[in-house]
Amino acid sequence: MKNYQQLAARTLIDAPDFEISDQDIMLAWNALGLAGEAGEVADLVKKDVFHRHGLDVGKIKKELGDCLWYIAALCSRLDLDLNEVMADNIAKLEARYPGGFSTRDSINRVDVTPFPLTNLRRFVGASEPASEPGTLFTRRLSQPPYSLTTSEIRKVIEVVETTCNECWDSDSDCNCCNDE
Ligand SMILES: [Mg+2]
Repeated sequence: MKNYQQLAARTLIDAPDFEISDQDIMLAWNALGLAGEAGEVADLVKKDVFHRHGLDVGKIKKELGDCLWYIAALCSRLDLDLNEVMADNIAKLEARYPGGFSTRDSINRVDVTPFPLTNLRRFVGASEPASEPGTLFTRRLSQPPYSLTTSEIRKVIEVVETTCNECWDSDSDCNCCNDE
């Protein structure tokens, strides 16, 4: 059997088969920069917690500033107002966690969907109809960490029944079903 590196190389390309604009290159540069600076913050914390180096808050402060620079840069490139990004984030958190953070609110994410569909996808076995009461799907929703009530489970089932099984968009928006 071929080793992993050889198998992975099948999808490796030497160059993109399309033109990349300077604008896209700079956007990617800034996005990579943000990821790199976030990595520097994580590394300082890792070295403190797991390597026992001690925490240099001054260094973290500088790295957080570097993160902020890239965030501001991305906002400028994408014609976004950083103040608006901050205000939107606070508004999202107020909707999602009206009483402060809780794992239950984190799972339910009322600001996104009635229930996180990505989690549902993990629950629904290929052969199991999600919407039938008493299935593994409904049993798991009734237990921790979800611990949904019967009426909450009914709402979840409503969502499952009105979304496409392929893309999980609502049936009316979904392209994979409507294209046929
Ligand atoms: Mg830095």
